[in-house]
Amino acid sequence: MKLTGNLIIGAHDVPATEGTMKALNPATNTLIEPDFALGGAAQVHQAATLADEAFDSYSHTSLAVRAAFLDSIADNLEAVREALAARAALETGLPQAQLEGEATRAATQFRQFAEVVRKGRFLQLAIDPAQPDRQPRPRMDHRLQKMAIGPVAIFGASNFPIAYSVAGGDTASALAAGATVILKAHNAHPGASEIQARAIQKAVQDHGLHEGVFSMVRGIGNTIGEALVDHPLVKAVTFTGSEQGGMALYRRAQLRPDPIPVFTEMTSINPTFILPAALAERGVQIGDGFIERMLVNVGQACLRPALLIAIKGAGLEALRDAMVKRVAEASARTMLTPGIHASYLKGLAAMENAGARRVAEGSAASADFDGQSALLEVDGQRFLSEAVLSQEVFGPSALLVTVEDEAQLLAVARSLEGQLSAALHLEENDLPLARRLLPVLERRTGRIVVNAFAHPQEVTYATVHGGPFPATSDSRFTSVGMTSIERFLRPVAYQGFPDALLPEALRDFNPLKLPRLVDGQ
Ligand code: NAP
Repeated sequence: MKLTGNLIIGAHDVPATEGTMKALNPATNTLIEPDFALGGAAQVHQAATLADEAFDSYSHTSLAVRAAFLDSIADNLEAVREALAARAALETGLPQAQLEGEATRAATQFRQFAEVVRKGRFLQLAIDPAQPDRQPRPRMDHRLQKMAIGPVAIFGASNFPIAYSVAGGDTASALAAGATVILKAHNAHPGASEIQARAIQKAVQDHGLHEGVFSMVRGIGNTIGEALVDHPLVKAVTFTGSEQGGMALYRRAQLRPDPIPVFTEMTSINPTFILPAALAERGVQIGDGFIERMLVNVGQACLRPALLIAIKGAGLEALRDAMVKRVAEASARTMLTPGIHASYLKGLAAMENAGARRVAEGSAASADFDGQSALLEVDGQRFLSEAVLSQEVFGPSALLVTVEDEAQLLAVARSLEGQLSAALHLEENDLPLARRLLPVLERRTGRIVVNAFAHPQEVTYATVHGGPFPATSDSRFTSVGMTSIERFLRPVAYQGFPDALLPEALRDFNPLKLPRLVDGQ
């Protein structure tokens, strides 16, 4: 597939206005053709203006038309699956076979959201009929439906270059909600971004939708991201990346004359607790599984388990030995970007300076941006006294915390910041401790997994990929799963409307046959 390197603004290919960049192959530290255009605030304005012009028609498309459009994006992604994965592999160092799986997941997400749209439950339709005879005063007819919030700016993530990027879950859920999208491509994979953007652009054209339904911009430095968050026509933002970047954008959005929601997914170490009976019975198996999940994506996954807490006692040595062996066997692999690689080394050094001991490491790096795996260990008391030990180190490393007793295990759990997930490994005899731990974890995580790990992620109606700060900036929402659509919806009530003026979904005879709450039933 030939890449143009242009920005994609509606139906237009827009050449560079702020210079060009090339993609980096992080495995070889060499630049890859072609040149990719960089834009600035003027291109953001062009894309936002188009997204605003497209909004009224797109947000009012019938559910059938919108669902068919989402299915077409899935078809188009599947049609370029191999080319997309091959380009993404060059730009990220991730294995092509894994990226083909990611492309399939991205396509599946669009199909799943097409079903969400067809079912229409997301509209949360409610009708409270008029009560003309009610005393002391009559009640008017009230009807509610959810509608899209407006044009949305989406920051593509670096670490899953397809399923969390241009054609990722944020884009799928925003388009399903009826929002128009301006995508800020991540510079770590510009070619893969263009291939995905073309798949979406083609579906927009094939379905005769307004060209402003989707645009993709790219720039260097903060200018383009800031212009997106500041633009008065943008009404919500999603972001996956660093806490520093996410919070800079979040704060910026709150300083606008009209503050807007910014849904950031930022940092999580996904603590895993092994309770005593499980440790004694299955320590080796759990240690093996933990390291296997930790190494996924060279440790560059949001759900990577990075913290393991175990009480000193039977099974601890076997657990440690299993983890040490597994880490020592791991080969160093290419990390996504020079910046992520440098942050990983810095994070490991900070942990060691804070008193964590390196008890195992994988084979040494043989290329510039190879991430060498590492297992660190620290005791519970030290962990509790050094805040840096509970910070995310994005890469293939984990910290084993050995605690003295149940009280210290609970203290460690209480010391943690907000997380995307936590895992509990337990046997029948561990249930009393698990019951004490559960409320502590419920307050701190969006998802709790028993006798398994949060990885791999399923995309379902019950999926929660969210959690209290700093896992996200808004713990009320999930960024993965069918309910992630709720980030892009707001309620509108219609009061005293004649039937002919009501949105179709709210008309008396329920022409769309959608589920509706009528008078609370
Ligand atoms: P990032 O530096 O936060 O950047 C993400 C995106 O936001 C990029 O497109 C970036 O644009 C933009 N951006 C960041 N700060 C901005 C600001 N102040 N103003 C405007 N735009 C801004 O994330 P990254 O490049 O993906 O990786 C860096 C670190 O983020 C990693 O080392 C890791 O610690 C963390 N991370 C965590 C997760 C997770 O799931 N937990 C996922 C990915 C990354 P530019 O590239 O143009 O600057």
